[in-house]
Amino acid sequence: MATTTLRGWGRTAPTRATVVRPGSPADVAAAVTSAGPRGVIARGLGRSYGDPAQNAGGTVLDMTGLAAIHSIDRDSGRVDVDAGVSLDTLMRRALPFGLWLPVLPGTRQVTVGGAIGADIHGKAHHVVGSFGNHVESLDLVTADGALTTLTPEDELFWATVGGMGLTGVVVRATLRLHHVETAYFTVDTEQIGNLDELMARQSVDDDKYAETVSWFDAVTTGAHFGRGLLMRANHSTLDELPPKLRRDPLKFDAPQLLTVPDVFPPGLLNRLTGRLFSELWYRKSPTRAGAIQNITQFLHPLDIAGEWNRVYGPHGFLQYQFVVPLDRGDVIRTVLERMTAAGQVSALNVLKRFGAGNRAPLSFPMPGWTLCVDIPVNPRLGALCDELDAIVLDAGGRHYLAKESRTTPEAIRRGYPRLDEWRTVRDAADPRGVFVSDMARRLELTTT
Ligand SMILES: Cc1cc2nc3c(=O)[nH]c(=O)nc-3n(C[C@H](O)[C@H](O)[C@H](O)COP(=O)(O)OP(=O)(O)OC[C@H]3O[C@@H](n4cnc5c(N)ncnc54)[C@H](O)[C@@H]3O)c2cc1C
Repeated sequence: MATTTLRGWGRTAPTRATVVRPGSPADVAAAVTSAGPRGVIARGLGRSYGDPAQNAGGTVLDMTGLAAIHSIDRDSGRVDVDAGVSLDTLMRRALPFGLWLPVLPGTRQVTVGGAIGADIHGKAHHVVGSFGNHVESLDLVTADGALTTLTPEDELFWATVGGMGLTGVVVRATLRLHHVETAYFTVDTEQIGNLDELMARQSVDDDKYAETVSWFDAVTTGAHFGRGLLMRANHSTLDELPPKLRRDPLKFDAPQLLTVPDVFPPGLLNRLTGRLFSELWYRKSPTRAGAIQNITQFLHPLDIAGEWNRVYGPHGFLQYQFVVPLDRGDVIRTVLERMTAAGQVSALNVLKRFGAGNRAPLSFPMPGWTLCVDIPVNPRLGALCDELDAIVLDAGGRHYLAKESRTTPEAIRRGYPRLDEWRTVRDAADPRGVFVSDMARRLELTTT
């Protein structure tokens, strides 16, 4: 047990908490029932950008000590895992069986518990939905220390999916994986000259691809504003692989080449470096059909460099991610134009189109456009984000709690109309408010 400073991936708003690393569900129950007045929250690998896995002055459970993979069933695709297992580890173990995690976020360095807590989504949302859709059951330690197995029949199951750790601690889960022939993707890339064309192209042929994403340039202005790369892929079949890769088609081919040192000054990302990065990224992938790419190339280019968030320097950065309904795609342009006019630079800009959402009241995805931009923290950012919040909410959109670090309780109330429904289920499971986080206090998610 140690008092430790914790922060999210965005490296803002650090707070101190007593960190406990349980090694079993019994340890979790003991830590939950002995929690002090500042309560307790689970933490996975800390890949949320803001403060949902922090608890100032209270207890934080580092769940990476519960890391067993209990079973993998090749035929059914069913896996039984502890909540502290990372998606990276699970993929390495499951791929030799020809099994693939249907929902993978932009990094594999997240735990199963964190994936359930935020109900994460990937580039395949329009086909497979979000993480909770693939959970068959989960074991939850509730506020009284009891261990309960929940299935999609239970309201508390759906309150836990996307519930940001505030219903209890997930200690184990059964997931259903998909069968694949290879660990590679057959990728069609289109280099597209401006934002309107990019969105128009991204709006068609969705049904032909399992995975779709676009990256675009938000620094270049004028006729090429929002030029970008539309990347769409299906899992490669064995026949599609070149002979060299066919020898070991399920190889986990995803290297991490370097770890970024913590030496970068604030202000490194500015208009000049942003323009340079955007130019290189745009040029690196010309229009091409049918390229075979490995896991890192297509899904996780950022995982090549460990701790890349250090590039933003000691003040950290903010990832602004929201979703707006499909018929309000105009908001994407408005937000980017406001950012540019305010002199804010984002080099990493990702646009996806979500399919249908699931039953979880706090799940983020809904049919619509979702945009992520990364902006270094600076004194003018707050006012701009307040303005963007109003634009997003007026369009019927909402913000993603896993990326959120600065908005208001009112913005969350407006964006998540089923918040009270979630609270009712949560409060029944945790009437004394044992589960609490910095985010829960800041956004008034919990009332007990
Ligand atoms: C580079 C990068 C790219 C990303 N790309 C995507 C993306 O494409 N799509 C996407 O959806 N997300 C994405 N994310 C966000 C990330 O997937 C989520 O924040 C995820 O929740 C992080 O998992 P974690 O294990 O690090 O959990 P943490 O960040 O430690 O915790 C996240 C939440 O889950 C809760 N939690 C953690 N473990 C448990 C448990 N055992 N029981 C109950 N609650 C628990 C915590 O209390 C907290 O509220 C990305 C993050 C990074 C850094």
